[in-house]
Amino acid sequence: MTAARVTVIDQARGLAPRAFDRQGIGARDPLSAARLAKLEAAAEGRDAAGILKLALAEEFPGQTAIVSSFGSESAVLLHMVATIDPTTPVLFLNTGKLFGETLRYRDRLQDVLGLTDIRTIGPHPDDRARLDPEGTLWSRNTDACCDFRKVVPIKRALQGFSAQITGRKRFQTNARAEMKPVEYFDGRFRFNPLADWTLAELEDYTAAHEIPRHPLVEDGYPSIGCMPCTRRVQAGEGYRDGRWSGLDKDECGIHVGVDGEGI
Ligand code: SF4
Repeated sequence: MTAARVTVIDQARGLAPRAFDRQGIGARDPLSAARLAKLEAAAEGRDAAGILKLALAEEFPGQTAIVSSFGSESAVLLHMVATIDPTTPVLFLNTGKLFGETLRYRDRLQDVLGLTDIRTIGPHPDDRARLDPEGTLWSRNTDACCDFRKVVPIKRALQGFSAQITGRKRFQTNARAEMKPVEYFDGRFRFNPLADWTLAELEDYTAAHEIPRHPLVEDGYPSIGCMPCTRRVQAGEGYRDGRWSGLDKDECGIHVGVDGEGI
């Protein structure tokens, strides 16, 4: 995958903000607004590692989680988090529809990076039985499938955390072009340490630290989600063209924390 291909994707995706970027960002109560202003000032001038330290060590020790899909873009942030505090809770969403390669990649990164607290979360069995007893809802209603397999479990898992780390980057969409390093979203503070990183910087970091790549990237899957909703991309296609291919959908509706690539 080249930098150019990823950039093209985002042009192809157009100007519409992703759901994650549209939802009410900003602290409305005075106490949260004051804390947000303080955090913004503290983050000013810090690099990615400095912002992570702000969240993990200075302001919200023991109260911060990262949600990761262990997809193609996950490893840089996970490596940084592991370097600062390998005991940071990492919420891994197993929708029940993932590629086996993703599960093995999770295990490999856990081993290589030394992460000690990867928590696998998933849809509630009652929801599965009620909403998708045959496991084929994805073929009829992807939004409903993503909702009970992704959105609900992540919201549930984030309860109790005061802060969350995401791997979103400004280059990904126009809607994210103004994204700040610290935000307030859905009742908690959200840190975006990679906000101003470019794709080339991500590639350089991955190479410099010899971080393993998701095995499906080399097999033609630059963006990796659930197996039924992900296909290979062909030459000239955009980065996310293999996700929900043929549907008017490019967002699972989660974006409560997955690191930019969606799940
Ligand atoms: S990506 Fe597809 S299979 Fe996965 S939760 Fe969404 S609709 Fe279901």
